[in-house]
Amino acid sequence: MPHRLTAILSLSAAPARGETAIEELLPRIAAESLERAVRNRGRAELARWKLHGVELELELTSTEVRPHQALLAIQRRLQEALGKSDKVGVRSLRVPSYTLEFPVEKAPERPVGLPIPHHLTVEHKVGRLELRDLSEEAIRDNWPDRAVSLVEEKLRRQSYEGKEQYWTLLGESPRREMRAAEDPTEAMLARAWVRSGPTKGKWFLGPRAAHLLKVMEKIARTEVLDPLGFSEVVQPHHDSFDILLRTGHLEGVPGEFYYVTEPKTRDPAAWERFTDLVKITRRVPTEELAALVGPPAAVSCYAQCPTIYWWLSGRTLAEESLPLKVYDRTAISNRYESGGRHGLERVDEFHRIEPVYVGTKEQLLELRERLRERYAHVFNDLLELEWRTAWVTPFYMQQSGELAEEESGERVRGTIDFEAYLPYRGTREKSEWLEFQNLSIVGDKYTKAFTIKAQRGELWSGCSGIGLERWLTAFLAQKGLDEAGWPEGFQRVALPLPSEPRFL
Ligand code: ATP
Ligand code: ZN
Ligand code: MG
Repeated sequence: MPHRLTAILSLSAAPARGETAIEELLPRIAAESLERAVRNRGRAELARWKLHGVELELELTSTEVRPHQALLAIQRRLQEALGKSDKVGVRSLRVPSYTLEFPVEKAPERPVGLPIPHHLTVEHKVGRLELRDLSEEAIRDNWPDRAVSLVEEKLRRQSYEGKEQYWTLLGESPRREMRAAEDPTEAMLARAWVRSGPTKGKWFLGPRAAHLLKVMEKIARTEVLDPLGFSEVVQPHHDSFDILLRTGHLEGVPGEFYYVTEPKTRDPAAWERFTDLVKITRRVPTEELAALVGPPAAVSCYAQCPTIYWWLSGRTLAEESLPLKVYDRTAISNRYESGGRHGLERVDEFHRIEPVYVGTKEQLLELRERLRERYAHVFNDLLELEWRTAWVTPFYMQQSGELAEEESGERVRGTIDFEAYLPYRGTREKSEWLEFQNLSIVGDKYTKAFTIKAQRGELWSGCSGIGLERWLTAFLAQKGLDEAGWPEGFQRVALPLPSEPRFL
């Protein structure tokens, strides 16, 4: 695919010998730099150049490798050579226009935008992206390649939109007798076990509901994590932007975070007007407040695994520590669910245990089977749920075209969703079941992103999201709030229940 780049190099002075000075150096330097960048992959050349006073304009074309990869070398080498021959430096460069071509499978259904100056056309399966006014930093930071990748990603996303997430049934529990037909959140509200929280999507759990949530946590630890040798870690509650840049969450779900800001100062004098306004008006002076806090600098925990990967970043794990098995149950997940909120099932603040595992591919496949067995034991023998598992393809895998792996039946990298039937939503066949937890192997995506190494060989990782509110709602939706209807195994762990305060 042909590419064409126009650059302007600003010289410290016009060379006294005029174009002769350039003629002696530029064609050779450009040819050598381009050859080094291209290395037998197609052709590349200096198509033309022109000196206008202190500005040297040049045009590079290529057939395969994108020519900006040679531009900085050309600048550097010209700077050295021209300094020696004519005492002239190269101050800076900019790229007024850069046209890149790339193959496109399908014409876009809607226009594709980019946040930098550009013009995009797609014709006969060829995308032609002209980037305009690129700075030297943009070339240095490789914006051109990223811009093309982003356009390709947006085009792929358009073709996936509307298609359902890949979903194949893996296994089903026996059918169970349902002991409730009510929405469990409504039932708990009616008995004042829970109260809808003071801020969006958050709940206050009174003694009974809290006890039951903690029972779920205890079951997960004693029946799944402890027997499999997982160790608990305690992680900070705020996730840095740097971490989320590395995992991809910052570009993936920026609209789902609760952002954290810091006060600009804790000096009471700076806050005096604010506190005075509060005292007089008994309201929050929000504009005043906005001026006293900085821009968001982190997010409240979205998922726990990113910060666990950060903990391991840049480290080499000893053979005897593999597979590494840890979990966090301290950080509480916060998500802006907006219109999707429903009861305790979909909340903006939820309590989750997240086991994370790092090891060889074989170790993780083995561990996944052990986890599945332990989970099955909990859901079949203790909670006696009606549940099923499904192989689903996370969105990022669909995007990066890794779907082929699932289709070939290997089922190595990817996610298993655990779903429970909620009778209050309708029939088994027609209603949507609740994803109450999942189990993933993500390959080397995060071990690479965080440079986590083994003494030898490749390291993979994965995680499992144990949503405690979801375990609880799935259980209560099927078994009801009346303890007499609960399975014996669960009764043994959960009873006696704490008493509730009596509200008059
Ligand atoms: P969903 O598709 O239901 O939004 P998700 O794919 O966003 O879930 P993950 O990010 O994979 O969920 O999180 C893992 C687990 O965390 C889920 O299986 C669920 O148990 C729990 N979870 C996720 N979002 C919520 C929420 N808003 N409220 C309660 N639990 C949640
Ligand atoms: Zn995770
Ligand atoms: Mg979600």
